[in-house]
Parts: sequence; structure tokens; C-alpha cells
Amino acid sequence: MSETFHVLLLGGTTEARRLAGLLHGEVLHREPLHGEPPHGESAYGRAIHVTTSLAGRVARPVLPPGEVRIGGFGGAEGLSRHLRAHHVDAVIDATHPFAATISRNAALAAADAHVPLLALRRPSWVPAEGDDWHTVGSLAGAAEALAALDARRVFLTTGRMGLAAFAGLDEPWFLVRSVDPPEPPYPARMETILDRGPFTLEGERELLRRHRVDTVVTKDSGGAATAPKLTAAREAGVRVVVVRRPPMPEGICVAATPDEAVRWVRQLGG
Ligand code: NAP
Repeated sequence: MSETFHVLLLGGTTEARRLAGLLHGEVLHREPLHGEPPHGESAYGRAIHVTTSLAGRVARPVLPPGEVRIGGFGGAEGLSRHLRAHHVDAVIDATHPFAATISRNAALAAADAHVPLLALRRPSWVPAEGDDWHTVGSLAGAAEALAALDARRVFLTTGRMGLAAFAGLDEPWFLVRSVDPPEPPYPARMETILDRGPFTLEGERELLRRHRVDTVVTKDSGGAATAPKLTAAREAGVRVVVVRRPPMPEGICVAATPDEAVRWVRQLGG
């Protein structure tokens, strides 16, 4: 009889959805143990059961294959209880590089419940020849940088949750792009575009040109889906204020791609 191998995938990213698709329906095979009767290969297979967890921030999220649960766990303690109650065999933290609280909670909960943890993190973006990047440590730092740089027309791509950091500025005009409509507090002089990546280079070029953008503000999210704005900014000589990532919890095993994460699961459960 085959049993299941339960993977809890902390999601909210393109990579998490891709990984859920790769793991869903996968069967982990192992060699028969000494003394076990030879019932054929299927007898030693464990089907992966993948549950993706979403925070519930987006009104109409793109759902991944497999089971989906939505909403917080109640801190690290709640997550630890969840891991035990649902007999989770492995946790993959595939959340956004800026979702620091859930990543910290995942590290604490996995250690507490003795469940193996992997973090799936896209590599950081790196500047290329011709880039005019100004790196800052936080959204508040980005707001300060805009004043220091005398920015006038800003394309703000840091997501609607971080708009409060720019709410006190009346001087630059902001073009804000987010999946759902922003809620106050936000800057007084602001236009909103509701859109979800991936974005094309052609589209980003046109957007910078049409809105006469002189400064782009972005988190160092990494990945291909939102990178074309960086290329478009380089081409147009538009400066970019880049918010550095928060540090990862220490001692966590990290994969850079969904394929690497699949190999980790196979090694663990095979
Ligand atoms: P966060 O600040 O690290 O987490 C705040 C709280 O939200 C957590 O303590 C947890 O609540 C809950 N939470 C976060 N991610 C969760 C998940 N995948 N499943 C269940 N509960 C979750 O997170 P955030 O920055 O607000 O991001 C929320 C979600 O949006 C994440 O899934 C992330 O991948 C995605 N996202 C974030 C960004 C960004 O820039 N931060 C960008 C794109 C997508 P409890 O303590 O109650 O468990």
C-alpha cells in the first residue's frame, strides 16, 4: 500500500505555482526495505500530496494545482501546530523574498515540529552596464532617496502594501502598478494601473515613455516576470531606486529554482 508524502508549500509567487505543478501527482519511489516482500514498484511509491498556503492578500489569486488553503496560521506557534496536525513531511517556503515574517515563522515552526525546511528564492537582480541604480535598505529609505534625487515622475512598483512609506510626499507624481486597487494611506499625486505580471519589454518601454518617468522604484524581487522594467529603464537612461532584500533566517537550505526544489523533495522522500 502506498502512503502519501505531504508537502506544505508557502506560496504567493510564480515559482511556488510552478513548483506545485511539478510536485502535484509526482510519486516518490524507494527501494524495498530488507525483509519486505517484493510487491512490485508501486508498493514502495509514496504519492506527493501538495498543499499550497496563500496569505489571502490578493482578491482573485491565480490558483496552483493541488490543494490550496488561504489565511494566516497564527504566528510561528500556529504554523508549528498546523505542521503536526496535518502530518506535514516537508515545508517549502516559496514566498516572496520580501515576505520576511512568514519566512521567519517557517524557520521557527519547522525547527519546533522537526520538519525539514527548504527556502525557494529567486536570485537577486544584478546591475548591468549602463544601469543607474541607487540601492536603499527599506521603503522608507526609498522615499528619502526620491527627495534627495529630486525625482519628479516616479514609477512605483513596490506593491500596494508599501504605499504608506510614500504617503507623506507631495512632490513627485507617482505611477503605481498593483494587482488590486490601493487603499490609503497613499501619495496625494498618484495614478494607478491595475495589472499583474509577467510584463513585456515593449510594454515597459512604452509605459516609461508615455508617462515621462524619470525614476523607477522597485524591490529586489529577482526573477524574469518583472525584470523588463529594469531593461527599459537602462535603455531610456531612467534611474532605478532598488530596495535591498531583508535577510533570510540563518541556516536554511536554499534552492534557486523549482527544479532544484523538486530534487530536494525526491532526496528527502525517496
Ligand atoms: P509577511 O509580512 O511575511 O507575513 C505576514 C503574515 O501573513 C504572516 O505572519 C502570516 O500570518 C501571513 N502569511 C504570509 N504569507 C503567508 C502564506 N503564504 N500562507 C499563509 N499565511 C501567510 O508577508 P507579506 O509580505 O505580507 O506577503 C504575503 C503574501 O504575499 C506571501 O505569500 C508572499 O509570498 C506574497 N507576496 C509578497 C510580496 C511582498 O513584496 N511582500 C510580493 C508578492 C507576493 P500568520 O502569522 O497569522 O501565520
